[in-house]
Amino acid sequence: MTWVEVAVLTGSPQQSTYTYVLPEGMQARPGSAVLVGFGPRRVTGVVWRRTDSGPEFEAKPVLRVLSEQPVVTPLQMRLAEWIADRYLCGLGEAVGLMVPRGIREEGQSAYQLADVALLPATAGERDQAVVEALRDLGIAQLDQIRTWLRARRHHFPPESVLSRLRRTGAVVRIERWRGPSARARTERWLRLVVEPASLEAIATAPQLGEATRAGIRRLTELASGEGAGSAWPAAWLVEQIGAAAVSRLVAAGALARESRGVAQEPSPVHPQVETLRLTPAQSAAADRILAALDHPEPGVYLLHGVTGSGKTEVYFDVIDAVLARGLQTVVLVPEISMTPQTLARLRARYGDSVAVLHSALGESERHGEWLRIRSGEASIVVGARSALLAPVFALGLIIVDEEHEPSYKQDAGVRYHARDVAVELGRLAGVPVVLGSATPDIVTYHRAVTGQYTLLNLPERYLPTPTDGQSQIGDEVGLPHVEVVDLRTELREGNRSVFSVRLRTAVEDALARGEQAILFLNRRGASTFVMCRDCGLVMTCRRCDASLVYHSAQENLVCHLCNRRSPVPRVCPGCGGQRIRYFGIGTQRVESEAREAFPTARIIRYDHDTVRTRSAHEAVYAAFSEHQADILIGTQMIAKGFDYPLVTVVGIICADQSLHLPDFRSSERAFQLFSQVAGRAGRRHRPGLAIIQTYSPDHYAVQAASRHDYEAFATEELGYRQRLRTPPFARLARLFGTDWTERRVAAQAESVASALRLTVDQEGFPDVEILGPAPAFRRRVRGIYSWQVIVRGADPWFGRLLEKMRLPARWQADVDPQSML
Ligand SMILES: [Zn+2]
Ligand SMILES: [Zn+2]
Repeated sequence: MTWVEVAVLTGSPQQSTYTYVLPEGMQARPGSAVLVGFGPRRVTGVVWRRTDSGPEFEAKPVLRVLSEQPVVTPLQMRLAEWIADRYLCGLGEAVGLMVPRGIREEGQSAYQLADVALLPATAGERDQAVVEALRDLGIAQLDQIRTWLRARRHHFPPESVLSRLRRTGAVVRIERWRGPSARARTERWLRLVVEPASLEAIATAPQLGEATRAGIRRLTELASGEGAGSAWPAAWLVEQIGAAAVSRLVAAGALARESRGVAQEPSPVHPQVETLRLTPAQSAAADRILAALDHPEPGVYLLHGVTGSGKTEVYFDVIDAVLARGLQTVVLVPEISMTPQTLARLRARYGDSVAVLHSALGESERHGEWLRIRSGEASIVVGARSALLAPVFALGLIIVDEEHEPSYKQDAGVRYHARDVAVELGRLAGVPVVLGSATPDIVTYHRAVTGQYTLLNLPERYLPTPTDGQSQIGDEVGLPHVEVVDLRTELREGNRSVFSVRLRTAVEDALARGEQAILFLNRRGASTFVMCRDCGLVMTCRRCDASLVYHSAQENLVCHLCNRRSPVPRVCPGCGGQRIRYFGIGTQRVESEAREAFPTARIIRYDHDTVRTRSAHEAVYAAFSEHQADILIGTQMIAKGFDYPLVTVVGIICADQSLHLPDFRSSERAFQLFSQVAGRAGRRHRPGLAIIQTYSPDHYAVQAASRHDYEAFATEELGYRQRLRTPPFARLARLFGTDWTERRVAAQAESVASALRLTVDQEGFPDVEILGPAPAFRRRVRGIYSWQVIVRGADPWFGRLLEKMRLPARWQADVDPQSML
């Protein structure tokens, strides 16, 4: 008899593998996918090893071999073992990250809306959300419904809602639904087929609602200067002018629907560099990495280049060499939709050999890309975290761009850090890992200056040669000049506007020169809290520990944690007083003040309220880079890798929002944010000016950012970290549990902490501390309480303690957390 040890993809987090009998006639080897019984369910597993001696008990048989051909490479199996160890998850959960869903058996049933009239009379918010999801998605699998809900900030598992809706007949389940065989890579667009002037006739037609009329007139504005033939992504246009206006215009023959291949979609590309001619600094960096390609221990390289220093050219030079060896490169970017330029440049240079993995891919598309990667047809794999887990069989190089981005840390499920996993994968595979950033993670930087990694500097801005041939290679563009404005002085001098005198003048000057400005603020909404002037009551969410934010566009109060919306109260619920006032600044308030201060400027606001989809994001990006607007107002979504040549002034409206969070990384995050936002100013030939408005002008993160002095910031920050014993001077794990009843979760937290303290004492682990228990920073969200216990210490003892630890049900561990919030 033959037995196989199987990592069960939906297995327990505690156990590594389960033993099954491999019946006569079935062929399976390490890496094969099999279907096995697991409790009452049939689930997919990956064969880890074969053995000729069985266990004491009678093992169940393998039910079916789903793929004898291994679905994971031996390298991936070793990586999965490391991930399971490091992040305290099951081996099946870790390898599950690498197995495409297409080969799985489970989760194939789908749901469809049958009859909304059969909604239960008691239908609540959750039922409505699920119905809305199905209306939007059509036939949808559980995963798709979950993703849809998450994207709209509904954080509840849809299973029980679905079964309730099925019982009433509102929703039906379709068993073993296989989905469309190959979903086309297309996106829906709308094209204007008439002259904008003729829209007015449609808008004045009788029996139109006011909103529809307004939407049609809005389209007239959007299309003015472009004329017939302009086209927009459908989703974006619907957001801009409303669904009613769109359908009216389609019915009237003014708008035509069309599908566009995503690949053919015009990308927002700047002139391409055809052949690489590197500056001396770029060549030196590339040469160091190239020399490592054939080294048995190639190592990790921190490419520290200021914004605009041309890190991409260095990547390209090294990728060229890896391609010439017939090997594959994995390029990680923080989020595909936020890095359209990197992607466009990779596609322009490497064409079809680029495979892109991103969250917007359907299952079949993902499967297709996965096959191209496994067959070697794709030699460059680009994506967010998941690209790292693709079945690359001839890995030659790993690049992690913007390595400091917190989004590399998965924040649910297996909480792995993609950059750290990349470093381990590089070590296992014996290939160099390049970490690129203008503002490296302090931990990475510390590793580089202490010799664990190699530090490569690109200290100057660099201008790629545009195809117009006007500029010279290696032309340097200065970093923006950064000024710090003390908001305390502004207030003393009676300026209550969100713009300091300096910022206002700078923006006016830029507009007068025909240039653009960006105004940055990290808060959505019109205010940040709403308070009664009479009794001091702050309006808070009923379900969360959060104050409500006033959103002027919809005239309502919104909880930014659970997205619950409520009307603005006329009288105070505490004292019945009528003096309810709004405090604090959000992006909507900046927008309204900007419209007053700069009345002739064309303004776009860019935050989660105005931009929800990838196509909307790209449309705003295109509109601003084509100078269809003068001022862009936005949250941190605008801080990422954008390059707008006409932007010469950037204003950070209130730096203090980022500085004072109770988290060990708040200064680091603030410095990174200031540097990146400031880095948007003055690229190409125009000098840039960044203005940081703050009540804490002497804070070292503000000071260092104003001088572009990363080293000074890092030195100061590392001093603090050493004193406070936070990474890189210790490792951290955040253990947290949740419950409807605070008493229960607090008691659990108490016993988790005391059990850990006991282990530390018994084993005599030196320098391992247990902090807490304490309520989490967000103690209550949607009525659910969280408590936490922090483990702090150095390896190997830190790791050994976590290995011995057993957590109660519904407790989770976040090892190497990105933040303690
Ligand atoms: Zn009151
Ligand atoms: Zn809430």
